[in-house]
Amino acid sequence: GEGLPRPAATRVIVVANQKGGVGKTTTTVNLAASLAMHGLRVLVIDLDPQGNASTALGIDHHAEVPSIYDVLVEGKPLADVVQPVVDVEGLFCCPATIDLAGAEIELVSLVARESRLQRAIAAYEQPLDYVLIDCPPSLGLLTVNALVAGQEVLIPIQCEYYALEGLGQLLRNVELVRAHLNPVLHVSTILLTMYDARTRLAAQVAEEVRTHFENEVLRTAIPRSVRISEAPSYGQTVLTYDPGSAGALSYLEAARELALRAAGGAAAQGGQPGYG
Ligand code: ADP
Ligand code: MG
Repeated sequence: GEGLPRPAATRVIVVANQKGGVGKTTTTVNLAASLAMHGLRVLVIDLDPQGNASTALGIDHHAEVPSIYDVLVEGKPLADVVQPVVDVEGLFCCPATIDLAGAEIELVSLVARESRLQRAIAAYEQPLDYVLIDCPPSLGLLTVNALVAGQEVLIPIQCEYYALEGLGQLLRNVELVRAHLNPVLHVSTILLTMYDARTRLAAQVAEEVRTHFENEVLRTAIPRSVRISEAPSYGQTVLTYDPGSAGALSYLEAARELALRAAGGAAAQGGQPGYG
């Protein structure tokens, strides 16, 4: 694909929303593939015990596969568990296995329990332009590790009833982590997902989100698309599964917007707007 600017330093982006089913995993893998297809080097870290991002990238994640669990709990180097994604040059994945479900508890008694992911990424020596972290649908220690490791938070919002419910809690957690553990953290990007242009509701939700997060919402909204939802069952992103589809084009465009934005743009606006 056509080139996009390489960031001066690795951009570590946390894809978070404690609601399930809003498009976190879909957004993580498809944005990551889009950035890689634009010529950038991208690592996806699967931080959800379900391992959906690993599945979608065609990465084996049965219980014996070295995974993010070994990194967080056993202190294994990230480089020992990262795998290349077949078919997409420049794209890599650190898989999650079901072990990770126990990590939330096991981490509690470990030293530097909030910053184990941050340390692992800092020690990773391969050059990377982007790290995208796919969070579980909760605000526990796994998500806190992601928030400590990242500079930016990307929140996917599904254009549905109650889209903004619970967002206040996520934003307060981001503020807490920023205040105590990671001063550079900020919500840089909001992406509208599963947008159905035919419904009034989707348009209303989109408008409400754009009003509250004027500077953060990407112009590109991701349409509801069967091709996007089919791709993971083939171990593929929509970018290789159906490259010409509207869903693939929308993720390519969202990735372009993300890459062209100054990394610190939204932070310069000051605090996050209050919500919830
Ligand atoms: P989360 O990671 O937030 O739980 P997922 O990315 O797994 O959410 O998405 C939830 C479900 O919605 C999945 O079945 C996924 O395939 C589907 N989905 C996500 N985005 C789209 C889209 N744009 N169009 C159609 N289905 C989608
Ligand atoms: Mg998910």
